[in-house]
Amino acid sequence: MSPAPDPLAWLDDGLAALEADEQLRALRHHDSGAEPWIDLETAAGPRRVLHLCSNGYLGLATHPEVVEAAAAAARDYGAGSGAARLITGGQPPHRELETELAAWKGAEDALLLSSGYLANLGVVTALVGRGDVVVSDELNHASIIDACRLSRAEVRVYRHADPDHAAARLADAPAGARRLVITDGVFSMDGDLAPLPALCDVAERHGAALVVDDAHGSGVLGPDGRGTAAALGCEDRVDALVATLSKALGSLGGYVAGSARLIRWLRHRARPFVFDTALPAPAVAAARAALGVLRREPERRERARRLAGDLADGLRAAGHAVAAPPACIVPVVVGSNRAALDGMARLLEDDVLAVAIRPPSVAPGTARLRATVMATHADDDVAHAVGAFRRALATAGVG
Ligand SMILES: *Cc1c(COP(=O)(O)O)cnc(C)c1O
Repeated sequence: MSPAPDPLAWLDDGLAALEADEQLRALRHHDSGAEPWIDLETAAGPRRVLHLCSNGYLGLATHPEVVEAAAAAARDYGAGSGAARLITGGQPPHRELETELAAWKGAEDALLLSSGYLANLGVVTALVGRGDVVVSDELNHASIIDACRLSRAEVRVYRHADPDHAAARLADAPAGARRLVITDGVFSMDGDLAPLPALCDVAERHGAALVVDDAHGSGVLGPDGRGTAAALGCEDRVDALVATLSKALGSLGGYVAGSARLIRWLRHRARPFVFDTALPAPAVAAARAALGVLRREPERRERARRLAGDLADGLRAAGHAVAAPPACIVPVVVGSNRAALDGMARLLEDDVLAVAIRPPSVAPGTARLRATVMATHADDDVAHAVGAFRRALATAGVG
């Protein structure tokens, strides 16, 4: 008897194709918290490197108050929540954090989900379905793309940050269809802002609800760090604000803030809420403590933004086309996957870790080195990074 054919033999071809396209990825580990300098594991042993790839912009993941809140919650409530919120998975930290997030965002209510990814899946699939229309920026985060697909609504993509094109995509939506416009607040791979006031106009004119995913703006931009919509003066015109606990708030989890009726609906109809175990209390308590520090210490976000600006200025002074970053993301587009990988390797020689971002995270031919800064980085760290980037980009022949 011949052996049964291997049903997954095609994986070898798939992996070989990724390798041929310089798309294979290695999992990196580091033996430290998300600190400004970390001990990166390498084949030659641990290596101390400047960490320019954390989204923990305010440096709160390792803040003593945040860590202690997580530890205390673990002692009080245990490591896991045991069930979905609609069963008995909710504990006081969940309700407390939702109340505080809503108050912070100036919303009536808020709902926690297990990640920002799931928050997007939940809000989109709860608001549109078959026969409806969702209008989405072409550079929206993968979780939004997946949410749109999963909703079964008709997905209409508009050109990046182009409200006129968004309007055109809404204009001939079928009568009776529900309409949704969705955008990142700060775009995760380019670091630029969505034109939210104009998108509010478009949504209002066409009877569409507007959802903003502010994973990278929340905690960093606007009065009280409330985010991109607050910074651009249109917070009260956004129907659902999605954000994450995993970036500025240094923990894990996602949430939606909005009207009481919206949140009530999501509690019933957002499947990633209904069918997913509640976040562990330590993660929730950590985010709550981080929110306290974030609001008490506005200098953290000001410093993080200033450092991002300094990094971009340093690169521009060296002749590289790097836009002024409104938040904390500094992308340096180098083009090919190979150039990005070579640039990353060259940066590591100078003890700098900034990751090569390749397709499918970005469009083919726009591979980049993406640097993010934290409030806890020193001014000297940024100077060090500028020097390393200049050498790396000169080697890669990028100017
Ligand atoms: C990181 C990110 C998410 C996902 O958030 P997680 O909490 O990591 O799941 C969603 N949207 C955007 C724009 C992001 O950058």
